Amino acid sequence: MAAAGRTEEAGRHAAHVMRSNPDHLVYLDHAATTPMVPAAFAAMEPYFAERFGNASSIYGLAQDARRAIDEARERCARVLGSRASEIIFTSGGTESDNAALMGAALALRERGRHIVTTQIEHHAVLSATELLTELGFEVAYVRPGKDGIVSPESVAAALRPDTTVVSVMLANNEIGTIQPVAAIAEQVRAASGSKRRIVLHTDAVQAPGLLPVDVDALGVDMLTLSAHKFGGPKGAGLLYVRRGTPFRPTQVGGAQERDRRAGTENTPGIVGMAAALEAAEAARAASVERCQTMRDSIIAGITERVEDARLNGHPTERLANNANLSLPGVEAEPLLMGLDLAGIAASSGSACTAASLEPSHVLLALGQSDNLARSSLRLTVGPENTAEEIAYTVDTVAALAAKLRRLAGSAKR
Ligand code: PLP
Repeated sequence: MAAAGRTEEAGRHAAHVMRSNPDHLVYLDHAATTPMVPAAFAAMEPYFAERFGNASSIYGLAQDARRAIDEARERCARVLGSRASEIIFTSGGTESDNAALMGAALALRERGRHIVTTQIEHHAVLSATELLTELGFEVAYVRPGKDGIVSPESVAAALRPDTTVVSVMLANNEIGTIQPVAAIAEQVRAASGSKRRIVLHTDAVQAPGLLPVDVDALGVDMLTLSAHKFGGPKGAGLLYVRRGTPFRPTQVGGAQERDRRAGTENTPGIVGMAAALEAAEAARAASVERCQTMRDSIIAGITERVEDARLNGHPTERLANNANLSLPGVEAEPLLMGLDLAGIAASSGSACTAASLEPSHVLLALGQSDNLARSSLRLTVGPENTAEEIAYTVDTVAALAAKLRRLAGSAKR
């Protein structure tokens, strides 16, 4: 109670500070996208203007772009612990996930047509496996435990002699749970035999700046990143493909990216992504510490002040910046609208469709009811957030939840 009293008091003070500047935006949706870091923006600028060459041409201006891309590739490879030649630049997380799943499955289709993934992947993976199903592949969707963790044993149990591709995300974008990818890799290797018959992909989009993304430590053959999730620009990403991994390019045309991804390279995006990835990795330890403190005050504040509120996902095996809570009896849509009016940008796992709020597929996979899955709130912090913003947010969520429950109660009467 004493702690709750203190958060309330801090909230009132913070509310005063925030309202004295109505333009102040409290941005708590870093899992959706992040503000660009100045180093990325500065690195990109010249490549929009005077250094505009197409990296595939032969004159000096073009070679300048080629050098910038090659250097960016080296820098990304250093962070991932890979060879530069194993990195394919793409337009972002969705393209990398699509290319990984389709590229490996198509390359290995004579060997087998069975794919293993999980029920809680991003739609960039799930929609790719749906497309592969239409093309005659079979897909097993492993269910996580109630805590959102996919056990290595459950992945091993789903493997068949004709399995060719396994895809398990490193950290979930909705509930922040961190999957035991290295242990899953061991299981996959054991089943795969010396010929490395099965390709293992991980969607690590949510990880940079919060978790290490070393491809050897993870033991993966493919790994997806998206620049805008770690302080880089939107529309840039990469796919790591371990040397020797069977891969059939699905974006075809020119010979860019060593014939693995056709299309003129997005020089500014690539250069910005490399700068952002290095900055995220350099700041990782400090960011984790800062974010974790704010995340924990959100979780403690909301669970103390909103009756029956509960945390979704594992309490500790989760990203340092992710608080995802279910607030029974509080619909996500009016809650998010109320938060927006109060100057707080937040999110819910539920997707808005024309008619209604679709419950989150991740929360349903955890065994939640449709109603509970429609009452989730995701707050993802970044290192630039402040303790005052967090106190104000907890205060606002508590007030809105009480109001929405009162309104729902009187509507029932
Ligand atoms: N995978 C995960 C886990 C994500 O969170 C996202 C972004 O929402 C994506 C893939 C897609 O990335 P992009 O927005 O770069 O297409």
